[in-house]
Amino acid sequence: MTIEQQARLDLAVAFRSAARLNMHEAVANHFSVAVSGDGQKFLINPAGRHFSRMRASDLLLVEMNAKDFGISAGQIVDPTAINLHGQIHKLVPDARCVLHTHMPYTTVLACLQDFEFLMLDQNACRFYNRIAYDRDYAGMALEVSEGERVAKLLGRSRSVLFLANHGVIVVGKSVAEAFDELYYLEKASQLQVLAMSTRHELELIPNETAAMVCKQWLEYPNAAEYHLAALTEILDQESRDFRN
Ligand SMILES: [Zn+2]
Repeated sequence: MTIEQQARLDLAVAFRSAARLNMHEAVANHFSVAVSGDGQKFLINPAGRHFSRMRASDLLLVEMNAKDFGISAGQIVDPTAINLHGQIHKLVPDARCVLHTHMPYTTVLACLQDFEFLMLDQNACRFYNRIAYDRDYAGMALEVSEGERVAKLLGRSRSVLFLANHGVIVVGKSVAEAFDELYYLEKASQLQVLAMSTRHELELIPNETAAMVCKQWLEYPNAAEYHLAALTEILDQESRDFRN
């Protein structure tokens, strides 16, 4: 199997799994994965296709340096997808996979004034010092400059960018890594929203401990790959046409 074929399968699994976990938003939002070393060729979902029905062959191969982005007539990619994902793949080398969602609990936190992600549980510690914040909601990314601005905010040391009043961008070195991050981020956000809603004082984990647990997370062997393999197995049993 070629790198592109494997990337198509992995990304189709990510789309369908995101829909099953209610991380999707109608037919909006985009996931992409780079298939060239410079990140200027990447796969992304076509306009109008629902996450829950995504097939490997549906994904469009975008070539940023080609005429009309290498997209043939009859295929449509959203302009916001080109501007955001194209610039992040170009400017953030480790962002091989870029996932943008409005998943509910993380988006709730992104709408709180001056919010900083809380070190409240083990899942949250995974993101210690790994979250960047875009505090200035600027509407839909219809200009290339908006993609550049967002890519710079994300920078090279962060894997998550909270978009105020909008949603989140999560990046990783592979589909498996990025999806694993997306999953745990939403779980940790859900816990924070629920914990805050109790109105009790919160017992925060000290920074030193959070940093240590973050390191444990990042060094844990093969967790993201096992997660994606398990999700692939579920889809192979329940909706195998993602492979088409
Ligand atoms: Zn969005």
